Amino acid sequence: MRELIIDLDAIASNLKSVRARVGSAMVLGVVKADAYGHGMIPVAKKLEAAGVDYLGVADVHEAQQLRDAGIDLPILAWLHDPRENFIRAIDSGIELGIANLEQLERVAKAAEHLGRIARVHLKVDTGLGRNGSTEQEWPALLKAAHGFVAEGFIQAVAIFSHLSCTSEADDLLQIERFEAACESAREHEIDFELRHLTASDGSIRYPQAHYEMVRIGVALYGLSPFTENHSEDFGLIPAMTATSVVVQTKRVPADHGVSYGYLHRTTGETTLALVPVGYAEGLPRNASTAAKVSINGKTYSILSRIAMDQFVLDVGDDVVSAGDLVTIFGDAAAGVPSVDDLAAAADTINYEIVTRMGGRFKRTYLGEEA
Ligand SMILES: *Cc1c(COP(=O)(O)O)cnc(C)c1O
Repeated sequence: MRELIIDLDAIASNLKSVRARVGSAMVLGVVKADAYGHGMIPVAKKLEAAGVDYLGVADVHEAQQLRDAGIDLPILAWLHDPRENFIRAIDSGIELGIANLEQLERVAKAAEHLGRIARVHLKVDTGLGRNGSTEQEWPALLKAAHGFVAEGFIQAVAIFSHLSCTSEADDLLQIERFEAACESAREHEIDFELRHLTASDGSIRYPQAHYEMVRIGVALYGLSPFTENHSEDFGLIPAMTATSVVVQTKRVPADHGVSYGYLHRTTGETTLALVPVGYAEGLPRNASTAAKVSINGKTYSILSRIAMDQFVLDVGDDVVSAGDLVTIFGDAAAGVPSVDDLAAAADTINYEIVTRMGGRFKRTYLGEEA
């Protein structure tokens, strides 16, 4: 009675749209956080079949799950537990983002222990202030990397960084610093093959910064990385549709309170329809009164408080019955509320909505690879 329909063919189509935009640059599909709530393994298998070049995740444990599922693509993991020893990761051929000297040393040590070369992507912080080497630490990291390459412990595959997308001026400055960091790596005789800087937002905004690879997450799921734009502006198809069913309806008189705190009281005799989806499923409680859902082609606001397990709609005199399909969000092109609409109602971004969808929702896949 609660279903997330994941359209994997939409994801394959979004990969095509991204490719049309980035030309010859390779595409790393970001499948971290359970593929933004879409299910990491089915999404990764679809992306592999659709010809993605790389997969990217935050944690080595996510990368390991991909390997355990039989995925052979190059996989990059970039956010590490300070206690991680990297042995299993290197042994599984997982490529590692390296943000500092300690990580690099630990990776080199693990590679020596295994007798296997670790493929690393050196990360420079060009201004986001998250992980990555500072510009001050960068020369020492390059020097150490050069030494470990010479010893046969590591291969420095790439230099990478991440934009803040705060303003064009800030991003252009980061692009400039990125190119300087790559230049500095060349001066340190680091023989890297790839540079990668942009995620979905930067890949759309800065064609001059695609380099050899782009890292694409949200656009593959069919969503716009910008709040001022929507999927259709970029030829993207939203891959996730959240549905439920009406489980009970009742006629109530005027002035009947509805749900906790009576955010809504009926203004006349009316029908209330109960839907079994709540904040436990990731429907944000603070979207109460602002979120809209669709039943039988008509849109209704959730006027009352969203609870843990359920919300209530006031459908007036419309004919709505138990068993009727409720679309919480889906493809706006189908005339239903979009993820962007729900994100706006909850004062957040589309990324957070899809990533947090879960709880008792059951995922159903369309276009799944065997
Ligand atoms: C999550 C992430 C991405 C993908 O970002 P999108 O905006 O979803 O395309 C790319 N690179 C890094 C380092 C990330 O953490």
